Amino acid sequence: MLIITIPAAELFNEKTNEFITTKEQTLQLEHSLVSLSKWESKWCKPFLTKETKTFEETIDYIKCMTITQNVNPNVYNFLTASNIEDIKNYIEAPMTATTFSEDKQAGRNREITTSEVIYQWMISLNIPMECQKWHLNRLLTLIRVCNVKNTPPKKMSKRDIMNRNAALNAARKKQLNTKGWWIMAKVYLSAGHGGSDPGAVAYGMKEKDLNLDILLACNEVLVRHGVTTVLSRTKDEYDPSTQEVKEANASKADIAVSFHTNAGRGDGSESLVLSTRGKAYKVAQLCEKHTQAIGQNSRGVKVRNNLWFLKGTKMPAVICECAFIDHDKDNDIIDTVEERRKFGVAYAKAILEYFGIPYNDGTVTTPETKTSENFLVKISILTLNIRKGPGTNYAKTGKKTGRGTFTIVDVKEGKGSKKGWGKLKSGDGWISLDYAKRV
Ligand SMILES: [Zn+2]
Repeated sequence: MLIITIPAAELFNEKTNEFITTKEQTLQLEHSLVSLSKWESKWCKPFLTKETKTFEETIDYIKCMTITQNVNPNVYNFLTASNIEDIKNYIEAPMTATTFSEDKQAGRNREITTSEVIYQWMISLNIPMECQKWHLNRLLTLIRVCNVKNTPPKKMSKRDIMNRNAALNAARKKQLNTKGWWIMAKVYLSAGHGGSDPGAVAYGMKEKDLNLDILLACNEVLVRHGVTTVLSRTKDEYDPSTQEVKEANASKADIAVSFHTNAGRGDGSESLVLSTRGKAYKVAQLCEKHTQAIGQNSRGVKVRNNLWFLKGTKMPAVICECAFIDHDKDNDIIDTVEERRKFGVAYAKAILEYFGIPYNDGTVTTPETKTSENFLVKISILTLNIRKGPGTNYAKTGKKTGRGTFTIVDVKEGKGSKKGWGKLKSGDGWISLDYAKRV
């Protein structure tokens, strides 16, 4: 069993303009036949395939793994990158000291191992049902051991046995070699220039600073989506592209993206690649699509064969030029940190789209606490204060209700009232319901 702790966190919900906070939460998780079968019955497809899981599918598998009872579903929105890393490592753990020599037949077998197939193996080998709660890798090892030790049933032909063993091997291999069936996207991000090399300079701005702001915003979004990132730098330091290329190659990332800011009085964004074929070209096209989506005009994808970042990297690589630092209009859209963060988010969206990971803006849905229907109340005191908000901590509007019947359109808890605060339909403000009688 794996125990993870999701730290207390605060998120801003743009829909309600409120901060949502969660307490620290400890979750007990198990990667077992039970979790596998829950997930498969929901998504109606096998879990142990090479197909990359989407972000939602991955989070849902973590939900299926959860043993802890009554977990607030919002908690899963606060999983950190290190939580996800821990879970990945746990799923990949062999959980056994038993080793087998690899069966050559295994590579050729195409049978897809679903939870039903594993249950069928358990039944045919008389493995007790409680083992469905074991770590899946341990259960698969047990099945394999039983297959080796038990005399196989007479009905099975040699070929059937071979097929079954091969399927087991394939399943186990998939367990150990996670590439493909979990989001394993890894991205190398570089912020061009730095330290004694400022890059292009214009209007009192240095390219190296702009590139770093874009990288940091892009990284934030990618990490939130479970993407593993390796960054060339996180502060102002000298980091030439020869160094970046070495780091990128050592990181074994799936793609490498370098952020720069253009110079030469042009206008618009452009993405540079080594060739118009392959994955880098696709990433570059998506980068241009997403800079256009935030209002920048695109000069398109350009082929450049003289840039070391593109030539020296072993993985598909793209250089993104967000705008021209020395063009007065283009400079206007990158001269604040907020504007540069927008570019960072746009590039992150491009990268996520490349990996097929749906973008999530980080907001969570909160349960509705609002009363759905308006109701009438009768006030029998003359001097009931109307306040600007639901609580005595909100200022008085200066108006008072007077005696009469009023329509309440919303109720909220707040300071200084046991029965809560009611919002007046008139729009004048809020009153304490301690002094109101429902009619
Ligand atoms: Zn540059």
